[in-house]
Amino acid sequence: MAQRNHPYYISESTIGGHSAGKGFFSSQNVNSGETIVTIRRPLMASLESERLRDTCANCYAWTEGSSIGSGICVKEGTTVSACAGCKRFRYCSKACQKEAWNRGHKHECKNLKPVADRELPKAVLGCMEILVRRKHGLIDDQTWQLLCHLESHVDDFKENGNYGGIELMAMGTSQFSATQDTFSKDFVAAMYARILSNSMTLVTPTFDPLGILLDGLLCHINHSCDPNTYIVMDGPQMQLRALRDLKKDEELFISYIDPTMPFVRRQSELQQRWFFTCRCSKCRLGPGQQEDAWAIKPEALSSQYKKISDEEIKRNEQAEDETNYTGDSVDERRVAALEAKAFQLYDEEQRQSDPSEAIRIIEEAITFCTESALWPAHRQPLPAFRDDLIVNQLAAANYEAAWFECAKRHRQIIPKLYPQMHHPLRVAQTWQMAMLAQYLASVGAEVALGADLALIAAMLINTVNVIARMSHGAENPFARQAQLKFLEVEEELLGKFGSKDAMNKAIQRQVELLAKMGE
Ligand SMILES: [Zn+2]
Ligand SMILES: [Zn+2]
Ligand SMILES: [Zn+2]
Repeated sequence: MAQRNHPYYISESTIGGHSAGKGFFSSQNVNSGETIVTIRRPLMASLESERLRDTCANCYAWTEGSSIGSGICVKEGTTVSACAGCKRFRYCSKACQKEAWNRGHKHECKNLKPVADRELPKAVLGCMEILVRRKHGLIDDQTWQLLCHLESHVDDFKENGNYGGIELMAMGTSQFSATQDTFSKDFVAAMYARILSNSMTLVTPTFDPLGILLDGLLCHINHSCDPNTYIVMDGPQMQLRALRDLKKDEELFISYIDPTMPFVRRQSELQQRWFFTCRCSKCRLGPGQQEDAWAIKPEALSSQYKKISDEEIKRNEQAEDETNYTGDSVDERRVAALEAKAFQLYDEEQRQSDPSEAIRIIEEAITFCTESALWPAHRQPLPAFRDDLIVNQLAAANYEAAWFECAKRHRQIIPKLYPQMHHPLRVAQTWQMAMLAQYLASVGAEVALGADLALIAAMLINTVNVIARMSHGAENPFARQAQLKFLEVEEELLGKFGSKDAMNKAIQRQVELLAKMGE
């Protein structure tokens, strides 16, 4: 069913010789960085409990951006105030409140009032929104049909033992939304299951997670661990963009998971959450790719780490679970046990809300990984630890410590994990670093002999200025902010150096210094 005037169409997909249901295809050649489709607002989006307190429930302006620079697209001084009725949702303006009210909140607000002090999961609130809006004629038939045709995976949930929990959540959803008269118990359970198995993460333009969303159109895009497109968000607006040049009739893929994870972990996550075996171009090559490379052979493990892993195997039943499978030899089983321990530490630090406690666990984990000599800098979960360390160092106001982690990431990790210059995560991480450099320059921090952080900031801001036009599109507020910021710092530096030539020469010296800082 090719749709005219759209650069995409939906058709039957075959991946690695197996049917993969419906998929999204390009109806023309598309250049890397171009927009394929823009969705003004997904059918449903629902904020995390924590974000309900500081984020507008209509335009998703996050007023408390956790790290320097992530709040870039939110006007300074923006605050949110709670709906006087339900006290649950907050809005940044009267206009936002009115829009949400008319989109459907007016039909659920009074039902939510009696449970104002009860935390409701984001999927329950999202499911309520869908049911309430359909009941009151606010979702048209075509959109509704598209939604109802999404795979619910009810049988898979029954098989894995999670269906009981879903039925329970669905009961609450029916009750709070007062839609028992319109939708049957089983229908609501299937809708809830559909949300669990088809939702994506709602993020800021710099990829900070805010909640979940469900869109009837974009959720037809299949997964690949080597995706050729990605989605950027700007408040409720979603844009599907090309990560590479695309040929006419090529299938479009996004990644549902972190594709930098090792093969077996990717397979296991996709199986558990989306119920499929990944046969994407990368997975067809098997577990021998960059994500799976160790820095040393398993048999070269030091005697100290052999001992640690043997103790892990004795003590910890997860040490040998399938997600860490490396091989059957004694040494490969040891390596798997060490990987299991690293990922357990990762889960542990992710659950920490106190930055200093999270930093303690992450530092322990990084030492564990590096002293084992097994992990190259770009093998997971080591880069994930570094990302979280930066976020927590910033939250704890340890700006200089965060800087050195950023420099390492910039030098050793980003080019390996995100080789495309306009990879949106590369852009977001470079921006985070630029804003940190600018802050450190403003307080006169000295991070290395001869380092001029104002110049380094200018150089990083310029990089983002150039690549954000491709990653986010020139019209995106994030790209526009980067451009404005660049013009601002360029003028300041030109004043200081007298000429572009002198400035560029000085910048070149700082590029070399920055590379050294990242060693
Ligand atoms: Zn708003
Ligand atoms: Zn309300
Ligand atoms: Zn794959």
